[in-house]
Amino acid sequence: MIKSNPREVKTRPPQCPPQAVNLETSVQYLKGVGPRRSALFRRLGIKTLRDLLYHFPRRHEDRRSFLPIARLVEGQKSTVRGRVSGSSLFRAKTGTVILQVVVRDATGVLLALWFNQPYMRRWFKPGQEIILYGLPQRSGRRLQMLVPEFELVSEETEAAGASLHMGRIVPIYPATSGLNQRELRSAAAAALKLVKPALADPLPEALRLAHHLPGLPTALVQIHFPKDLESASLAMERLAFDELLCFQLALAMRRRALSARPGIAHRTQGELVKRWKESLPFELTAGQRKAIEEITADMASPTPMNRLLQGEVGSGKTVVAAYAIAAALEGGFQAAVMAPTEVLARQHAMNLSQLFFGIDASVALLTSGIDPASRRALLSELKAGEVQVLVGTHALLTPEVSWAKLGLVVVDEQQKFGVDQRKTLTAKGTNPDLLILTATPIPRTLALTLYGELAISTIAERPEGRTTARTLWMDETRRPEVYGFIRSELAAGRQAFVVCPRIEAEAASAKGMFEEYQRIFTGCRIGLLHGRMLPQERRAVFAAFQKGEIQILVATQIIEVGVDLPNATVMVIEGAERFGLSQLHQLRGRVGRGRHLSTCILLGNPKGPEAAQRLKTLEEATDAFQIAEEDLKLRGPGELLGKRQSGIPDLKCLAWASHGPWLERSREEAQRLLDLDPEMAQAGVQGLRREVFVRFPQLTAPAVSS
Ligand code: ADP
Ligand code: MG
Repeated sequence: MIKSNPREVKTRPPQCPPQAVNLETSVQYLKGVGPRRSALFRRLGIKTLRDLLYHFPRRHEDRRSFLPIARLVEGQKSTVRGRVSGSSLFRAKTGTVILQVVVRDATGVLLALWFNQPYMRRWFKPGQEIILYGLPQRSGRRLQMLVPEFELVSEETEAAGASLHMGRIVPIYPATSGLNQRELRSAAAAALKLVKPALADPLPEALRLAHHLPGLPTALVQIHFPKDLESASLAMERLAFDELLCFQLALAMRRRALSARPGIAHRTQGELVKRWKESLPFELTAGQRKAIEEITADMASPTPMNRLLQGEVGSGKTVVAAYAIAAALEGGFQAAVMAPTEVLARQHAMNLSQLFFGIDASVALLTSGIDPASRRALLSELKAGEVQVLVGTHALLTPEVSWAKLGLVVVDEQQKFGVDQRKTLTAKGTNPDLLILTATPIPRTLALTLYGELAISTIAERPEGRTTARTLWMDETRRPEVYGFIRSELAAGRQAFVVCPRIEAEAASAKGMFEEYQRIFTGCRIGLLHGRMLPQERRAVFAAFQKGEIQILVATQIIEVGVDLPNATVMVIEGAERFGLSQLHQLRGRVGRGRHLSTCILLGNPKGPEAAQRLKTLEEATDAFQIAEEDLKLRGPGELLGKRQSGIPDLKCLAWASHGPWLERSREEAQRLLDLDPEMAQAGVQGLRREVFVRFPQLTAPAVSS
């Protein structure tokens, strides 16, 4: 019933052999997509017809029913159907050429306006039937839509079938400038038409039916052009399941390949480990004991350990890592400990030296700041096996660092390291065991998905007797109270952190706050710490704070997770609404690490309900996993994990799936499939196997043999 827009993409006439077209065909094959347009598609990550069809709508818009013009509500996007009763062109004072089209239906009159496109006027002949979609606005007594989407209705197209853009549920895509919704929609429709006839469904039929999922062709049609919203959501389930299942299969195959390599069977129960345990000044918590048990089993086995140890700041992960190190030393192996920053590396080296004091192990520190002579000496001791534990930053990755007998690699805060860096380090030994520590708790389902190749140990509790910071959320009006409180803590000999979301510019900047605090706290020693200072300056400031020479430290987030400062009892977070939930939780973990009661004050005036919800959650919740779950709900996995997750493929459906049962389901199915057929050799799963390799080439590449 509807005439198509002149710029729409059409499929090419059949002189091209149809069997040549498949999902991997370039989008340039589509009519109307030349080099210029395909560059725009590339900006959206779309090169092939597969990319185009898997560029899912952000949402759908229901444009099925037409609203009588008289019932239009200002500010509420709607679809109307009427006839053109006239049009005019005029020039505004600013020089803009305005095309004004008058549209009527039985109930009223609506003006549609377009700018600087005078040629459009010839489409709007009086009497022409038209459908408009847009935002109604009132301007004086007139009702108008600015630049509405439109469709011209004609008898000829009326017979040809439904429109892509109107009178239906319409997809709205993530777009880019220069490529509008109409073009994306037309391209998707054209691609569907081309690809559908030859489309094979990689999912075994039995599996598909067991989960009540539609077939692939149906799912692809319904995700773009659903007949109703329920079909769209069913299609999404099917497409998400495909992606997650393939991802889980890829991870599982990888895990199997990794554990097929010969590793080290460490001697975990010897004299040294026993002496080390006896030297500990405290009882291990239940969580620590369980993690140690799991690590013991991994290390004793002759296949390489690949384990993630998660637990929030202060839960005692370092102690557990020290155990693993002691077990490696027992059999005469060396251990590497890599941390993302110099401050953290230094702290680990210090803690480990203390923890190994009783057993007389040699711990050394390697950072990029070390002078050349000491570095040379250190490296030769390492090569000779005299240094048993080497702690460091990225400096550990350089080729000159070589080991006599590297048997264990501990990586702290691994999200800041890429998978490749991890590999570089483990390649310095012969399949050494790998233990990764993270203080960013990740909800279980997500962890199982993202770290599918790792086993996971979790420490859920903190050692007893340690205080946790209480958290208070206050708005700007209470700033004087906050200052009063800081003053009283300083008078009691304590220290305070002030964390700011940025270094300079507008509100709540570290530099601005530094000045403010200097003005308010005259006579107090105040320091400033941010990422644009030189490393040696930062070290000096931080050391002064640790020694108590600085009383108030105004800083950006640079103060790393895990840094121990028992005398700091106040943390003020300026502009708290600008931080994410997990981020805030990590920040406050830096106080409450000593004997004294600590307080974290969130100063902020959140603008929206979402930010307010975040601050409220934090006031009440202390459990990191609960907070992570909440964060996942509020912001989705992309935000939660940040861009730091290098090495993890970009999963399109992860955000969607993180709420429902599909992460678990796909993981279970992957396991079931591989248990039955570890090589995926049977005929029924060939399509699926191919799909896994196409989708996750990095994961299915042969495991790097180290
Ligand atoms: P994490 O690395 O998880 O942040 P650490 O291992 O550094 O935590 O432990 C934090 C502090 O708690 C350290 O000072 C450590 O000595 C102490 N600690 C660790 N385990 C225990 C325990 N079981 N009982 C008492 N204190 C502990
Ligand atoms: Mg082992």
